[in-house]
Amino acid sequence: MVTITLMKQNTYEETSLRQKIEDIFQFHFDKGNPIRPGDIILLKPNLLSASSPEKRITTDPAIVKTAAKAVLDRLGKPVIGDSPGLDRFPSVAEKTGMKAVADELGIPIVELTDPIPAPVSSSARFHRIDLARLALEADLIINLPKLKTHAQMLLTLGVKNLFGTVVGQQKASWHYNVGLNRDLFAELHLDIYQALPSSFTILDGIWCMEGHGPGNGTPRFLGLLAASEDAVNLDIAISRILHATPESFPLYRAAERRNLIVSSPCIFFTHDTPESFAFNDFDIPHLDSLHLIPAFLDIFSKRFLVSRPVQNPDLCIRCRKCEEICAAHAVILDSNGKLHFNYNKCIRCFCCQEVCPNNAIEFQKGALLKLMDSFKK
Ligand code: SF4
Ligand code: SF4
Repeated sequence: MVTITLMKQNTYEETSLRQKIEDIFQFHFDKGNPIRPGDIILLKPNLLSASSPEKRITTDPAIVKTAAKAVLDRLGKPVIGDSPGLDRFPSVAEKTGMKAVADELGIPIVELTDPIPAPVSSSARFHRIDLARLALEADLIINLPKLKTHAQMLLTLGVKNLFGTVVGQQKASWHYNVGLNRDLFAELHLDIYQALPSSFTILDGIWCMEGHGPGNGTPRFLGLLAASEDAVNLDIAISRILHATPESFPLYRAAERRNLIVSSPCIFFTHDTPESFAFNDFDIPHLDSLHLIPAFLDIFSKRFLVSRPVQNPDLCIRCRKCEEICAAHAVILDSNGKLHFNYNKCIRCFCCQEVCPNNAIEFQKGALLKLMDSFKK
């Protein structure tokens, strides 16, 4: 039986939020697998970049703070940790409000470093994955994702948030190795999820991001908290609430291939039901159907069919962050401030769009997506 808690929660105000997080802890931990005194608990928020909480790019500090307090009440040892993809850790910790939380509670906040081989199962798609030592050695990971859209993977929720346990630039290497193939990327996310020690996910869906997530979308209020030991089925439940079609969600396809998806009567919702949330206007990105393109058409499809990054010169401030993040070395800024993309090398990982501080990289629809759009009209 998979148990998923869904709760309406309209505010990050501490007293109100604390009550809800405490309910989650009492229901899922105190009755089941209690946190033991002295347990090392890694609190893993989404700390994508050095952004203020109001931008809704990162997990709200109030969620991290109330979860940390609940761990401290049970005499566990919380540690806030992540390996941000885009900015330096001290600046991320400061701007996202996480350092203030750590200082107030007197708990450590650390950058996830020291990659070691994870114990991937023999049935995993990838047989060598290095993850941060702390993530592998903690007694429990409390996974604290932000609900956001994702230009490459449709949505970033619980499972995707654990990709943050891959250390630093190794993330870019994975993007590069896995390339255009979203299904393979989703398989990697599942391998990481399954290789980590026990994790418990509490999803920050109070204020979210829709549209051009995960870094350049629009804040959207949903008033939702969700929690489960099973991040896969939690993510799928949330994708249904948001009216994302299963075939458009790479994680769904990967989970289905592994027989991980549970349905009624083996799934139990506590507090609220999925039907009590009606978000049929959530702005979800349209992804190219890359999984439908045969491998031998790879170069052709990259060039002509799928969406490709383009510069908006009016917004570009010439910071070169896109150039620095690009693992494929597919973008160069010239001395006139013009970006040159090599679309044969570009793996459409969307990292340049994520890292751009001024929303100056747009993805121009490829012929395939335009064709699909025309069928929808
Ligand atoms: S140009 Fe952008 S989308 Fe293309 S590989 Fe580089 S970072 Fe990824
Ligand atoms: S990251 Fe954005 S603003 Fe900076 S150079 Fe690239 S396109 Fe321009």
